[in-house]
Amino acid sequence: MSPPPRSFAVIGLGTFGSTVAKELARFGNYVIGIDINERAVSALADLISYAVIADARDEAALREAGVGDCDVALIAIGEDLEANVLSTINAKMVGAETIWAKAINRTHHRILSKLGAERVILPEEEVGLHVAQVLHNPRMRNYLSMGNGFHVVNFLVPEEIGGKRLADLKLKERFRVRSLGVMRGTDFLGSEAENPLLKVEDKLMLLGRRNDLRDFAASL
Ligand code: ATP
Repeated sequence: MSPPPRSFAVIGLGTFGSTVAKELARFGNYVIGIDINERAVSALADLISYAVIADARDEAALREAGVGDCDVALIAIGEDLEANVLSTINAKMVGAETIWAKAINRTHHRILSKLGAERVILPEEEVGLHVAQVLHNPRMRNYLSMGNGFHVVNFLVPEEIGGKRLADLKLKERFRVRSLGVMRGTDFLGSEAENPLLKVEDKLMLLGRRNDLRDFAASL
């Protein structure tokens, strides 16, 4: 069962904000989009629940747009630091439950955290980290950092191990890597206990340290 929709206010509809707003709306959430620029607002008018032209530096305008009733306000204004900081304060003042904000650098990150943003995003740094991980281990399709040096990765089964059984790879003994299971299309084939027979292009979900995961990939 999918979770009930939530409500979001996205403030600043540049590339970053409009992408988040459209995706949240596509997932079935209630999304208010706010921008000072008319073109940015009309581009999203048919794709989100409610698109408003407003200056987010103006607390009353945010209140009127309904930001205070949203579960989450995302401040996605980029270059104008003052507008970004004021919007964060205003979103808090009008009562948005949770605030996420985009920062342009580490100092800005600190300011937004101190102002009460629950999560501060540095998009370029986050994408850079992601790209480096994938470049470091090209067989890895996607990864999730557990924040303690461990990663869960989605590893496409290459020809070298197609036709082998999962347990025969001896991932734990040879590489200190744990296998969480294998997916084929939308089917979960099981983990080592079920010992599925691997097919090229199956998705192998692995848990391990970055270099251990890379050593496994390099051994193939
Ligand atoms: P992106 O990379 O997401 O395109 P950016 O980091 O270049 O964005 P800007 O283009 O400066 O950031 O800002 C994003 C959006 O925020 C723009 O569409 C801009 O019109 C809008 N914006 C800027 N100031 C305000 C404001 N005071 N109130 C509402 N929207 C604003």
